[in-house]
Amino acid sequence: MPFNRSDYAAVKQEYEKKKKDAVTRSEERTKALCDKIPELASLCRQLAATGPRIFEAAQGPESELEAKIAEIKKENGLLIKRQKQILEENGYPEDWLDIKYECEICRDEGNIDGVMCVCMKKKLISAGYKTAGIDGLAATHSFENFDLSYYRYDNDVYTKMKYAFDRIKGYAEGFRVGVSPSLLFLGGTGLGKTHLSVAAAKRVIELENYVIYGTAQNIFSDFEYERFGRSFSDRSESRTDKYFDCDLLVIDDLGTEIKTQAVTAFLYNLINTRLGSGKPMIISTNLTSPDAMIERYDERVASRLLGEFLPYKFIGKDVRMLKLRQSK
Ligand SMILES: [Zn+2]
Repeated sequence: MPFNRSDYAAVKQEYEKKKKDAVTRSEERTKALCDKIPELASLCRQLAATGPRIFEAAQGPESELEAKIAEIKKENGLLIKRQKQILEENGYPEDWLDIKYECEICRDEGNIDGVMCVCMKKKLISAGYKTAGIDGLAATHSFENFDLSYYRYDNDVYTKMKYAFDRIKGYAEGFRVGVSPSLLFLGGTGLGKTHLSVAAAKRVIELENYVIYGTAQNIFSDFEYERFGRSFSDRSESRTDKYFDCDLLVIDDLGTEIKTQAVTAFLYNLINTRLGSGKPMIISTNLTSPDAMIERYDERVASRLLGEFLPYKFIGKDVRMLKLRQSK
């Protein structure tokens, strides 16, 4: 199933309701007008008898079937023509009684011959942004609006950032669970790590995957909630399951959360479980040296991060400061 299970179920349910509502509204419009115009009511009754008439014709001799159906079609054509005339005479548009679907392509089914309609895909992508936690960032943090010109002040910086940008974009475009590696974005504040993490998350969602994005602080506070905050009677969904279940997990700002042994153990378990099941991660961090990582967490976590993740070094000057200076 594409995207994430609960988003898919919710959108599917929304479509069923939408279609039902469209039919109900058309029936209501038809009934209201038929109550007012008796001739229209009679035409509607005759048109409604089409099905039973065809059924009856099918019971008769096969040799006559084609001619009978043609006759019914011809009569129906005249009935519909008259119906439109009546609507026009009474000041209504000729499609007033038709079912008005939000999407005429799939008639609010969400798919056509088993292929997902564009309208449903759009809805699932929006739902995916929201579930991932990037709905507020998705519009501003894309590959398209990542401005590499901020790195042009130094040719070396520009070349390296352009390389990182191209590789990360390519990674997102070709993302596949079980195949794609995990990435580690290393570098100081304001060098574009968050921007490219979100852009990658966004693209991977658009390719119908289930993505979760979170800052280390938020992820670990969910973990703390599961440990200490949840009461025994709380039957709501676990707050941390999604970090294990999603196709791609993006952890931003690793190293800024509160440091405890339990957090380190949780992080190790999370990384280890995901690596073991072939589910990629993108982790960005201000910790740029092995020593800093070992000191912050422990050797096990550091060796996972440094040994199993593909590293990208973000270099240069704080882009946020450059932008600020240019806007003054
Ligand atoms: Zn559609």
